[in-house]
Amino acid sequence: VDFEWTAAEQEFRQRLGTTLDELVPSDYDAFALSEKEWAANSKRICPRLAESGYLTPSWPAEYGGRDASAFEQVIVAEEMIRHGEPRGLQYMGVNYIGPAIMMAGTPEQRRYHLSRISAGDVLWCQGFSEPDAGSDLAALRTRAVRDGDHYVVNGEKIWTSGSEVADFCFLLARTDPTVAKHKGLSLFLVPMDTPGITVHKVEGVVGDGAFYYLVFTDVLLPASALLGDENKAWTTVRRALAFERVGVAKYARNDRYLDRFMAWAIEHGRADDPVVRRQFAEAAAAVEMARVLALRVATDREHEGAQDDSAYIYRIASVWAEHAVMELGIELVGPDSLIDDGWADRQLSWGLTAGVAGGTTEMQLNTVAHLTLGLPRVS
Ligand SMILES: Cc1cc2nc3c(=O)[nH]c(=O)nc-3n(C[C@H](O)[C@H](O)[C@H](O)COP(=O)(O)OP(=O)(O)OC[C@H]3O[C@@H](n4cnc5c(N)ncnc54)[C@H](O)[C@@H]3O)c2cc1C
Repeated sequence: VDFEWTAAEQEFRQRLGTTLDELVPSDYDAFALSEKEWAANSKRICPRLAESGYLTPSWPAEYGGRDASAFEQVIVAEEMIRHGEPRGLQYMGVNYIGPAIMMAGTPEQRRYHLSRISAGDVLWCQGFSEPDAGSDLAALRTRAVRDGDHYVVNGEKIWTSGSEVADFCFLLARTDPTVAKHKGLSLFLVPMDTPGITVHKVEGVVGDGAFYYLVFTDVLLPASALLGDENKAWTTVRRALAFERVGVAKYARNDRYLDRFMAWAIEHGRADDPVVRRQFAEAAAAVEMARVLALRVATDREHEGAQDDSAYIYRIASVWAEHAVMELGIELVGPDSLIDDGWADRQLSWGLTAGVAGGTTEMQLNTVAHLTLGLPRVS
């Protein structure tokens, strides 16, 4: 196995890093900003990244990319997060909503939405989870009823990150309540300014703008908002979620936080403590394991097309790394890690939600047991 980057990839990383150094202050951290702040920064920086070819390099050229390899996409994810993730939630459009539109969209949807996502001037949110449908997503109850040339949508979505600043919602709704629960679902591309959508903030541990509660009341959508075939969304959703699971190189953020914690340990005379050193080693190993598994996913995508099982395995390793770095931060910084709004505090917030956002670790383990070990599927 050769883990070395090619000369061309190293050069690409260097050019991207130089561009990001110019666009973003060295201590930038979107994870520490309010939603309105990161959204404004994202809309300022992403069009510049798009112009330089760094926003959607691995997209097909016809949709605004340049057919770059999955490895270049890994480099983009790593460098973005090393620079504090200046894209904010823009990655949702780039990493999985855009690819879902490529997979299932009409020519008109592709032309309109893909050109906007690849230009970096549009933010999306994901309206999947509901108060009684999280792990069991297919149990969702938001209804979209066809009425002539329109659908009428009624229901509730929760935990919808970034919905106050989003321009569009990637909405999953039930279009046929009479069939098995996975079979009656459809996807919609919904402008957030459509009348009848209300957005309510939900206070949460991860700070401003992570969580919202959306209410849809008699929302009228043109039939052209439907993505793919009616009642056949489940396959697209599964593919989109597999992309989501490797969308952000969280291990690269963990690496950055490990560096910060090491600087803290040196400053506070703790870097020679054998217990501290052991914890650093364990956390660093967990981060490295996640990184290597991310490369495995990229390898699968390059050579065999998208593979679900490696994406799920990577995702579990990524959560373990997040937790290891969180525990290190708490042990090292002590009670201040709970209150100081510094690096340990931020890592604690994101570590707490890491095994929940994008699907819980238990559900990922169930899926790995099914896909990799051939055990019966748990739905
Ligand atoms: C930071 C953050 C951001 C999020 N952003 C979004 C977003 O933008 N859009 C969106 O749609 N959703 C979002 N979510 C929601 C997220 O997808 C759900 O929280 C997640 O799918 C879990 O659903 P739930 O909260 O209803 O928990 P539940 O499904 O109720 O699970 C509760 C517990 O039971 C366990 N459990 C449930 N079923 C099983 C089973 N079959 N086997 C074993 N264990 C099981 C779970 O693992 C968990 O520990 C976000 C969540 C977080 C934390």
